[in-house]
Amino acid sequence: MPKTSPHPADAADDALSILQKTYGFDSFRGAQAEIIDHVTAGKHAFVLMPTGGGKSLCYQIPSLLRGGVGVVISPLIALMQNQVDALRQLGIRAAAINSSIEGADIIETKNAIMNGELDLVYVAPERLLMDDFLCLLDEAPIALFAIDEAHCVSQWGHDFRPHYKQLSLLAERYPWAPRIALTATADAPTRRDIIECLKLEDGRAFVAGFDRPNIHSAIVEKTNARQQVVRFIKENHAEDCGIVYCLSRKLTEETAAWLEGEGFTALPYHAGMDAQTRARHLERFLKEDGVIMVATIAFGMGIDKPDVRFVAHMTIPKNIEAYYQETGRAGRDGLPSNALMIYGGQDAAMQRNFIAESSAPEAQKRIEHQKLNALLGLCEAAGCRRQVVLDYFGDSCAPCGNCDTCLSPPETYDGTVEAQKALSAVYRTDQRFGVSYVTDVLLGKDNERIRSFGHDQTSTFGIGADLSAAEWQAVFRQLVALNLLSVDPQYGGLRITPQGQEFLKEKKSLRLRKAQKRARTKAMKKELAAQAFTDEKDVELYAALKAARMELARAQGVPPYVIFHDKTLQDMVHLKPDTMENMALVHGIGQSKLDKYGKTFLAVVRAHA
Ligand code: ADP
Ligand code: ZN
Repeated sequence: MPKTSPHPADAADDALSILQKTYGFDSFRGAQAEIIDHVTAGKHAFVLMPTGGGKSLCYQIPSLLRGGVGVVISPLIALMQNQVDALRQLGIRAAAINSSIEGADIIETKNAIMNGELDLVYVAPERLLMDDFLCLLDEAPIALFAIDEAHCVSQWGHDFRPHYKQLSLLAERYPWAPRIALTATADAPTRRDIIECLKLEDGRAFVAGFDRPNIHSAIVEKTNARQQVVRFIKENHAEDCGIVYCLSRKLTEETAAWLEGEGFTALPYHAGMDAQTRARHLERFLKEDGVIMVATIAFGMGIDKPDVRFVAHMTIPKNIEAYYQETGRAGRDGLPSNALMIYGGQDAAMQRNFIAESSAPEAQKRIEHQKLNALLGLCEAAGCRRQVVLDYFGDSCAPCGNCDTCLSPPETYDGTVEAQKALSAVYRTDQRFGVSYVTDVLLGKDNERIRSFGHDQTSTFGIGADLSAAEWQAVFRQLVALNLLSVDPQYGGLRITPQGQEFLKEKKSLRLRKAQKRARTKAMKKELAAQAFTDEKDVELYAALKAARMELARAQGVPPYVIFHDKTLQDMVHLKPDTMENMALVHGIGQSKLDKYGKTFLAVVRAHA
């Protein structure tokens, strides 16, 4: 239900004063100010910004400045109410319209739109496209249209939604209203589709970097995935909220039960669960402290919980886009966070099977295989992980100093001879066999199968006896990752690529990485500990502030971060405000929140002085 509090932007306000007074932030980030000016002036925009970059302000503030209602189109019905709750806390008049909202509330919201009493309305695309809603908009004062998760427009995107395609009508029916399309992941063809479909050609594209420097990433070889994950959580995130991604529905349930057994609060989440249970688990994840969601990739899109401290992958994701998007759910509040991926030799084979067995056309499958190869390259990288990921998106950075390979560079060795041996063994066995067979030939295994093909007579038989089978497997994985060998998607046979041929012909040299050692959890811990408080008193105050926040959140039935972000509480511990004036200086406290909660938290700070 829209409230009828006064419009937070009066005529004298500009974007910066809204940022400070309403949101309680000091300054704009990145291109925010530029985007806001552009859209407020009535022009169209395409915004590509990483998760946590601050996309929401780019349409919220122009909506407040332009007057009329900002219409936000989002596919994420389950999350709309949260966004609306968070805005109301700031004194912004917001409401949602979707299939989960009662008829009476919808009527009230519609009236508020017509009377110019609403700043923002969040609406599902299928609702927006209904005749009655379009007719209402024909007559209503509209500030702008914001199309969130805009990659849903494109068949090239990773989450195509047919309703989104029909949003092209916005340009025809409301040509006077500025359109701003926002997304966190879109490769070049997806971007082109979005701009074409939403007719943004004469607008501006704002493309921010993909870097998420506060996320520490590590990729470790699988020994025992569950134990590795439990150790990682215990050592780094015993009290924290996080997401664990599993490959199958069954595995999410088993892993959640296992984590519960280890003393954590862990809930499974996958598409096969009934909607009610799913909604309940999501609700608990959002509203309670320290809940671990154990999920298939069905979970996570649009989750804008800012304080997810870690994301762990029990097996490799589909490709680098998926890895980036899934790990990107950590640390949206900008505080240090961890991404851990566990990968094993079998994982790649399993992903290849998924691709091979899918019903996608052949051309699409080839693209998927290439994307998987790029991901394997990331896993085997001897250099900075972040560089590999950013390079994949056409972005770049210096070695980041905040990933496992930067913090503890893997040992490498001159693998030229090993690579030559491996490639010739593939060649001498006619480029038809998989890794384990070729390894057996290299090791000179005396077995029936090898004899039956006559491969015990080839020049490569037994030339690799100086390495173990596991070491050869690591060599083959890297050669595939480096694109010197390719894997037949159907039968797993190895084949020498043109690059592999060039390597042999030109007698190039090559460095390979040695098998990995244990994950560098120590380095992560140091990083995170730097954020935590050292003074015993500060630790107590922080806990007391969190408890006060939880109490307020429970009373209102909203997630704790809707009241205050962790960053706000941490800033409070640092500043220890002793007056309401000083309280207003704390990060994330604007006028509305100062009025609502200032006194409560002031009392907590004073009690601990
Ligand atoms: P996105 O939609 O791009 O993933 P959000 O709009 O949800 O990101 O913003 C991410 C977080 O950053 C939110 O908690 C938001 O309040 C905060 N934020 C956004 N802009 C600023 C800013 N200029 N200063 C401080 N915090 C900001
Ligand atoms: Zn790095």
